[in-house]
Amino acid sequence: INTEDCFFPHLENLFVFEDVSDRVNSRLEDISYKIEDIKQILTQYLEPQVFIGKHCNHPHACNFKKSCWKDIPKASIFTIPRLSSNKIDELVQSNIFDIEDIPIDFELTPKQQNYVDLVLANHPDINSKEIQKVLSHLKYPLHFFDIETHNPAIPRFNGLKPYEQFIFQYSCHILQKDGSVQHYEYLHTEYSDPRIYVIQSLINHIQSTGTIVVYHKSFEGSILTKLGNAFPEYESFLLSIVNRLWDLEEIFKKYYKHPYFYGQTSIKKVLPVLVPSLSYDILDIKRGDEAQAMWDLMINTVDDSKKNKIIQNLKDYCQLDTLAMVKIYQALLKV
Ligand code: SF4
Repeated sequence: INTEDCFFPHLENLFVFEDVSDRVNSRLEDISYKIEDIKQILTQYLEPQVFIGKHCNHPHACNFKKSCWKDIPKASIFTIPRLSSNKIDELVQSNIFDIEDIPIDFELTPKQQNYVDLVLANHPDINSKEIQKVLSHLKYPLHFFDIETHNPAIPRFNGLKPYEQFIFQYSCHILQKDGSVQHYEYLHTEYSDPRIYVIQSLINHIQSTGTIVVYHKSFEGSILTKLGNAFPEYESFLLSIVNRLWDLEEIFKKYYKHPYFYGQTSIKKVLPVLVPSLSYDILDIKRGDEAQAMWDLMINTVDDSKKNKIIQNLKDYCQLDTLAMVKIYQALLKV
């Protein structure tokens, strides 16, 4: 697919043609041996003994993880940030899965060692002074903002390239200084370009002052910047949002570490620890990639009741993302 210079609606150059015969031929012999190996494995009565490792998740999570990983503890060696495949294999081959069992002289980077120490101490590491300092710079009204996007291989709307992200939904909770909260949202429900409708809704709902709190700022920043490039008449408005973005995730990267985040800082790991009463588990849509697939299904659905159900599920999902940020922020204020 030509992701360089193919733009909707001119899709004549969507595909890149390349002769790969040499690369394919060079692997043919190897493949015939592999097929023999696989056939032989299929005749065995017992499953082959294979070590688990990073290959269980890459390129995709394996369907057999429930079985092969059933005895792996939650705070396992696999949660150590950026631990190399070689080191993981070394531990796995020594039958070491629990962080508690890692030999004291096993070489780790300072960041990895910090995480291991955190798990062993089983106690959060919270720099409340820094958190207080950072939060004191935020300006009311606080906008807690999240977007959903889609990136189909074959672009559908003007000026988009293959796999280029476009926004189709957002949710925004606005927290005023007096503690009151308003919620605004937009979800595009038709098979048409959502971008201009999203911009118009943002103009109606995003106030001209106040910090815009997001989770993983680079994503929202790049989508809104590109939106401004595509619609130059709204560029300054969209850039005024980008310039006010503040990343809540930074707190959890730097100042609030908890063993039960299991080495991650995503909102799905942080929320159950800081706000156990809120959960993604009750939702029909639980992840961004599911939202993307369901949006595609919804805009192509003619059955009204099915369509309305998906619309509600999409709204519930995006709304929970921003409500979760409000609650996490309020929990941090108590810290
Ligand atoms: S989970 Fe899948 S990839 Fe991993 S060891 Fe089991 S079968 Fe192999």
